[in-house]
Amino acid sequence: MAAPWEDVLRDEPAIREAAAVAVDAALLEGVLMRTEGQPNASDVVNYAPFTLLPSAVPSALFEQAYAVQQDFNLLVDAISQNKEFLESTLASTIKADDFTARLFRIHMQVLEEGLAQSVFLGINRSDYMFDCGVDGTPALKQIEINTIAASFGGLTSRTAAVHGQVLKVLGKSKEASRLLPNNPSKGLALGIAKAWELYGSQSAVVMFLVEEVQRNIFDQRCVENELWNRNIRVIRKRFRDVFEKGSLDDAKRLYVDGQEVAVVYYREGYVPKNYDQQNWEARLLLERSRAVKCPDIATQLAGTKKVQQELSRPGTLERLLPGRAEAVARIRATFAGLYSLDMGEEGDKIAATAIADPDRFVLKPQREGGGNNLYGEELRQVLEKIRDSPERTSYILMDKIKPQPAMNYLLRAHSPLQASECISELGIFGVYVRQGKEMVMNKAAGHLLRTKAIEHADGGVAAGVAVLDTPYLV
Ligand code: ADP
Ligand code: MG
Repeated sequence: MAAPWEDVLRDEPAIREAAAVAVDAALLEGVLMRTEGQPNASDVVNYAPFTLLPSAVPSALFEQAYAVQQDFNLLVDAISQNKEFLESTLASTIKADDFTARLFRIHMQVLEEGLAQSVFLGINRSDYMFDCGVDGTPALKQIEINTIAASFGGLTSRTAAVHGQVLKVLGKSKEASRLLPNNPSKGLALGIAKAWELYGSQSAVVMFLVEEVQRNIFDQRCVENELWNRNIRVIRKRFRDVFEKGSLDDAKRLYVDGQEVAVVYYREGYVPKNYDQQNWEARLLLERSRAVKCPDIATQLAGTKKVQQELSRPGTLERLLPGRAEAVARIRATFAGLYSLDMGEEGDKIAATAIADPDRFVLKPQREGGGNNLYGEELRQVLEKIRDSPERTSYILMDKIKPQPAMNYLLRAHSPLQASECISELGIFGVYVRQGKEMVMNKAAGHLLRTKAIEHADGGVAAGVAVLDTPYLV
């Protein structure tokens, strides 16, 4: 996509002036993060990294991404209720990947005991890039769907105002007026509030389960504040607090520090380093409880890369969403090529293809949070080492998506101002609530655009690679 700002990009004095305005606007609007040096204190904060200019996004693909979100909500929810599908899909992964295996064991234990939870709340974010085809026409291709701790729904609601001001400073008020309003945190909070209401206890609280290191607290506060505005109490606890002060009563109601918990909203618990033995015990306690978990452990498993790969097999979507041919078609249109590395002929063949032509692929382990995937020469070396070992089944292969880069400036505290060739990733937030068998809410709640310099193959905003952006529809 051609950058719509070609004329100003090379005007260095104008860019410098705009960057100074942008940083102050970001601070005023609350595009904030705690610092690396003091990640748990709000005495010193800085702006979260963001682009100087909004990035061009093709409006047809933007609309396509919104239009498929309710379908993805239904799909994730269907997978989470399909014990056989999760069991057979994850069978090979569980043998090779201890983290997935531990999550899966909790899932099975909770099912065997009988689910105490009857209200279900999903908050996910489906991420896409715009793949540039041979003829140059961009296509919407899903990178992954995040079913746990999908972040930046708060901070992203504040970037449009910042970018609007930047455009005005650069003499582009007409373009500024075209930036879309966007507030995912409101939609997320509506889902949490609905789940809280259906849980049915006025005195119960919503518990944000948070990490030990809380640099991204302001993003979470955006959602919290929306709940307080609805007179719903919010508490912030870590696994450690749950381990020390959590319990279940006879009806499996969850109490933490003396307060009944209606909804557990995880912003933690998605990577192995979040867990020690005590934290695993705390996780099990939460999953066994009646509280609405966002997500429950089955929904977390539905977001694994292995499940994503299995969904791309012919017939799988049809089985999971019977009678919904249009939804299936909309979902399938967003899939890139995904390949299993399970032991056998199919896996041998694709492994050999990827070793011969590594730049066509991305090698993905069952991990979240950015920085885990392998590309190019590194992909080749790793795959060559594990190609005949069952270790390879802990990975999947995916076609590499190749977006058209555009120039922009990435604004980061303590970094020099310089132009970079960038690519963007669009995320759409989905929210749904189910009571028993009945869907009572199913929505797209807003979007997130993240942009990074092309020299980084991988990594999100929290990983320090991508920065926040605002789509400018073209
Ligand atoms: P994580 O769960 O760690 O966020 P992702 O699947 O989202 O894993 O991959 C992390 C990053 O790697 C993405 O944000 C994107 O920049 C890059 N990436 C992932 N898959 C592809 C792909 N198929 N083609 C190109 N880049 C990809
Ligand atoms: Mg990702």
